[in-house]
Amino acid sequence: MEHSPKKVGLFMERLLNPAIPVVIFLVFLSMATGLRYGLIQQYTGQIEANLENEARSMAHNLEWEFRVHADAIRRMAKRMVSDPQMSESVWREDAHSYLEDFRIYQAIEWIDRDFFIRWLEPESSNEGTKGFNVAFNEQRREALEAAIEHGNYDISGVIELHQGGQGIVIYAPVGAGAENNGLIAGVFRMETLAHQLIASREPSMFRIEILSKGVPVYTLSDFESSTHLMSYTEPVNIPTLDWQLTVQPSPEWIDKQRSPWPRWTFITLICMGLLTSLSALLLQLILRRNRDLLTARKELDEEIAQRKTIQQDLVRLESTDVLTGLPNRRFFMEDLAHSLNIASRQGRQVALVMLDLDRFQTLNDSLGHQFGDELLAQVAARLDQLSDEGITVAYSGGDEFMICQQNLEDIDDVIYLLGLIKHCFDTPFVIQDEAHGVTATLGVAVYPHSGLDADILLRNADIALYRAKEQGRNTYQFYTEGMQEREVMRLELEKDLSQALANNEFVLHYQPQVNLTSGKINSVEALIRWQHPRRGLLSPIEFIPLAEESGRITDIGQWVVMAACRQLAAWNGTRFENLRVAINLSGRELDEDNLVDRIRNALDAEGIPANRLEVELTEEIFIQNIEHNLGQLSRLHELGIKLAIDDFGVGYSSLAYLRDFPVDFLKIDRSFIRDITERHDDAVITRAIINLAHNLGLHVIAEGVETPAQLAFLKSQGCDLVQGYLISRPVPAAELEKSLANGAFEKLAETSGL
Ligand code: C2E
Ligand code: CA
Ligand code: CA
Repeated sequence: MEHSPKKVGLFMERLLNPAIPVVIFLVFLSMATGLRYGLIQQYTGQIEANLENEARSMAHNLEWEFRVHADAIRRMAKRMVSDPQMSESVWREDAHSYLEDFRIYQAIEWIDRDFFIRWLEPESSNEGTKGFNVAFNEQRREALEAAIEHGNYDISGVIELHQGGQGIVIYAPVGAGAENNGLIAGVFRMETLAHQLIASREPSMFRIEILSKGVPVYTLSDFESSTHLMSYTEPVNIPTLDWQLTVQPSPEWIDKQRSPWPRWTFITLICMGLLTSLSALLLQLILRRNRDLLTARKELDEEIAQRKTIQQDLVRLESTDVLTGLPNRRFFMEDLAHSLNIASRQGRQVALVMLDLDRFQTLNDSLGHQFGDELLAQVAARLDQLSDEGITVAYSGGDEFMICQQNLEDIDDVIYLLGLIKHCFDTPFVIQDEAHGVTATLGVAVYPHSGLDADILLRNADIALYRAKEQGRNTYQFYTEGMQEREVMRLELEKDLSQALANNEFVLHYQPQVNLTSGKINSVEALIRWQHPRRGLLSPIEFIPLAEESGRITDIGQWVVMAACRQLAAWNGTRFENLRVAINLSGRELDEDNLVDRIRNALDAEGIPANRLEVELTEEIFIQNIEHNLGQLSRLHELGIKLAIDDFGVGYSSLAYLRDFPVDFLKIDRSFIRDITERHDDAVITRAIINLAHNLGLHVIAEGVETPAQLAFLKSQGCDLVQGYLISRPVPAAELEKSLANGAFEKLAETSGL
């Protein structure tokens, strides 16, 4: 069977109807009334039966009484028959003993043949009765004569007694027919008779009416007859009399007979009804309260469910980065900790990959935050395609993403993932209708070798990432034990670097560049060194990337410009006053809008013409942020500063920028020069670069020349300038001046075949 909630609700509604307790009470009330009525009915029948019994017993009493008295009178008559000579005194004695025995006679009389009362006992209370003719009317005479004739007794019926009051008389003939000697009569007073009848009963309880031929002839009563009261009429069987006895009980008698049960049943049922309807009321109250509680609970449940959803939404929002739609760092770290727990139980490895977009800061600064945000969103979308149940991709902030790979079988799985990540950057990102090639650098830490908890793993992945960046970006690096120490050193250096400028710890060393046509030294490259208070002289490779990262490179670059200008000024008026100085600028420095102004100010401050300063820039400057960089470089060039492309030949394949940028020198990267005499392809590339530069009207410098053979090759290919340990290491200005002054370089040139 199906109980739909709607049906249950309807049933409940009916159950809670306020009419129900009333109806219950009314049902009980009608039951009580009905039962009471039925019971009263039954008991009334009972009372009537009782009354009938009473009446019958009274009637029988009366009959019996009459028979006894009639017999007594008859016996007296018989005695007179047997003793015709009986004297009056004997008779009276006999009558007296009867009177004494029965005590109900008013009188006993002997009546002669002519119906006159002759003898009488007692005389005292019946004065004036002697000599009275009892055949006082025709009817009486006929009745008495018939009695004498047949020898039967006669009863007078209720008559007005000669003595006063009502009574009846029993006549017994003394002998029958001709032998008759009158009659013996017993006179009763009705009153006495009636009292005798109810002698055993409470006289006030009944009203007794004696009817003769239907007409009341005598009434014995303490109370008035009432039609409301019940009555019972019983015929009285006495010869010659047509009597009836009507008995009417008093209200008290009826009350006595009446049973208390109808009342008690009524009261009990009413009480039960009250109780039941009260219980129903109580039950309704409880049910109603219960229902209210249920409703309240349902509402509460709904509210809780709503809150849960909101909370879940909040959690989701809290764990998601709005910009990229990827899980955020907090969520990722929690998830990573969880993954590590599982991995530790299963004895598996987990890889954490930190991904950093190369030169994002530069792009973001020059193209605007909107561009940066769009790029991050696109990168996120591509990376997110890698996520599956084993791989989680998250956004860490800035230009960093985090990737977690669970359930590693071996390290090849990570290599494969790194390949997939790199693949995400294969095609350029189209932002604001322009395609931008973007690369990423990755640092990898693998649980449990590279760290046992999420935080350490993250720190180590970061270290690996940093090392990868040092190695030239667009690459990856796994965390290794040694990185830790280097990391400590890096952090220390970073701290010390903040003091270095103020403490004047930087120095410029100069490396001469030899003109292969003239054999003369007309220019030097200024290379920065850091005289570290504890670590000694530090190479720029050790601190320039740090300075770039922290943004300190701008101030350091400014210091380099000023130091170079001061040196040029110092050489003014000396034999070195025609030397030009080349300084290195990093990409970050070019981002500063006031760079050109600062350089010009430095030149002006020292009174140096701009053509004595050269600037070396790496290739990527010509590829990224083209519009801005082109503007910067054009302004520098307009000042009269010569521009050189440093480390030329590595990195970028497109040479289109050579056409647009104002460039004066190409500086062939050291890596080509190193094996130039052994490796045919390096020689070919070097030759091609020299030809390309010359065809574009540019001069060519070869750096890292360490052997005479390299020098000879470059000279033979028409390279314009060379720089390298073969001629000189980068040296302090004083040392350079000394070498230049004592002609050390010229001697060297001769031995090298210049
Ligand atoms: P770079 O501009 O390519 O500088 C040339 C580097 O090659 C110098 O290293 C120099 O000492 C080294 N070198 C010169 N001749 C030879 C050789 O024959 N054999 C070998 N193996 N190396 C040779 P250094 O001084 O350690 O500078 C390293 C890099 O630091 C520079 O590379 C440059 O990119 C950067 N740097 C140096 N000074 C500055 C500076 O003032 N500002 C900026 N932004 N970067 C600088
Ligand atoms: Ca350089
Ligand atoms: Ca270089």
